Amino acid sequence: MRQPLVAGNWKMNGSLDSINTLLEGIKAGLGEVKTAEVAVCPPFVYIPQVVQMLSDTAVSVGSQDVSDEESGAFTGEVAGTMLRDVGCTYAIVGHSERRSIYGESDEFTARKFAAARRFGLTPILCVGELLEEREAGTTEAVVGRQLDAVIELEGIAALGEAVIAYEPVWAIGTGRTASPEQAQEVHAFIRNKLAGLDAGVADKVRILYGGSVKAANAAELFAMADIDGGLIGGASLQAGEFLGICTAPD
Ligand code: PEP
Repeated sequence: MRQPLVAGNWKMNGSLDSINTLLEGIKAGLGEVKTAEVAVCPPFVYIPQVVQMLSDTAVSVGSQDVSDEESGAFTGEVAGTMLRDVGCTYAIVGHSERRSIYGESDEFTARKFAAARRFGLTPILCVGELLEEREAGTTEAVVGRQLDAVIELEGIAALGEAVIAYEPVWAIGTGRTASPEQAQEVHAFIRNKLAGLDAGVADKVRILYGGSVKAANAAELFAMADIDGGLIGGASLQAGEFLGICTAPD
């Protein structure tokens, strides 16, 4: 059985003070979380503070991005070795905001995926289609292409040691959630595609759904056969809402 994972992506939000308050709120309710693994992905600069504050809990910490390089003259980049060094377990790669705002390609994302693994982090690989791609009926082609870039560089077995997050871009931060059936359809496509290459990997890999998940809709999404938890943006910034999502699989 795949353990559900609920990972909060805080994006570029927070301050020393607000993060303390948020973590205190989350820690106060963790006892209620029975089934899911919980992770949070703060902005880089707050990672050590968050690792320290969560050191007496089972909550994992991840980064929102990672460099494709190991070290050297790459101004502004943060290497996987550094993220490991300060206590990260996960690294999000290929978030739609990285792809669309910063122009990160499928191939570049695959290199980041490889770098995360090389330095001991578990990649959370984000895939998902734009609204116009869904309307043009190309969702599977887009998601398939994003997965293929990683499979070509790293091989299918690598996905068995990673997490995939299906995030339809039209549902991110818009309040417009994919219906459980719409999400399940793409999750099943992903799992079947992987099963065609390696049944063991397909069975093992956790596929999260992301896109306007809230406490009120999490349970019905997570109840779908191929949805193994969520990657949560806006709702992960409110302790009560985030905990409501974390307890949804119970
Ligand atoms: C995200 O950015 O990964 C995300 C899912 O955001 P939101 O939950 O706010 O839609």
